[in-house]
Amino acid sequence: MKIISSLLLTCVLMFLPGAAHAKLEVVATTPDFGSIATEIGGRSASITTLAKPTEDPHFVDAKPSFIVKLNRADAVVEGGAELELGWLPALLDQSRNSRLALGAPGRIACAQGISLAEIPATLDRSRGDIHASGNPHFLTDPLNAKIVADHIASAFCQLDPKSCDTYQANSKKFAAELESKTAEWEKLLAPFKGQRVVAFHDTWPYFARRFGLSIDLFLEPKPGIPPTPVHLAEVVSRMKAEHIHVILVEPYQNRKTAEAVAADTEATVVDVTQFPGGVKGTDKGYIELMDYLVRSIANALSAGRK
Ligand SMILES: [Zn+2]
Repeated sequence: MKIISSLLLTCVLMFLPGAAHAKLEVVATTPDFGSIATEIGGRSASITTLAKPTEDPHFVDAKPSFIVKLNRADAVVEGGAELELGWLPALLDQSRNSRLALGAPGRIACAQGISLAEIPATLDRSRGDIHASGNPHFLTDPLNAKIVADHIASAFCQLDPKSCDTYQANSKKFAAELESKTAEWEKLLAPFKGQRVVAFHDTWPYFARRFGLSIDLFLEPKPGIPPTPVHLAEVVSRMKAEHIHVILVEPYQNRKTAEAVAADTEATVVDVTQFPGGVKGTDKGYIELMDYLVRSIANALSAGRK
């Protein structure tokens, strides 16, 4: 009788929402980390993403509902490297969830294991620089996505050992797909090696390094500081002198500013995004997003040659 009743209890628990056998509950800060966490988690994890794909990851609109989501989560997947410094720490404090405390297995910082670009020689936030500890937009290199996927899989294994085989298998499959796609993307951008591209914000150093481009002239005078007329005039003159024909702009950046610079320099404005779903044709996930980026930048560079 005792056995039957404990069996019954187990069955009831299995079908109760939020019961011991439920999926791993994961909150991702931005949709790129959310997409990779979904690839790894498969059916064993439930992923919720806080930031919208059209939002600036440095300045996300923190809603009270985020605190509830963080309070219930088994894990949070964040970029780290100060990407979310302006909004996440306060939310985590208010969520009062010790599973997400610094150093806890549920705190998954994706920058760990990534070799960060543009680490400044001296830490100086006084001029408004929001990349004060290195560039946090490392997922624009698809091979960094492989490192992140592997890191997430290991963390999920630690939190949920019974599904570890699934997480590892999903990570392997994602890595294999990334490798073959990266070879394809490298081929598509190979004709443009060494070419320069302008961007609104310094989002693309990892993408540029992977594909042999130079994306180091920005409409912002410093990351997070809005463009000024003096700075824009300098950008226009450098674009003319160096024959730069492409300007990258993300959904939350001022497209009109980019268009004004493009009008002065006969350049093309290309709508890009770091996040799956940020622009049309990227909502299926990280790989579709990279596909879109490579193709739209290759098209614009090829048109600029005429
Ligand atoms: Zn940034």
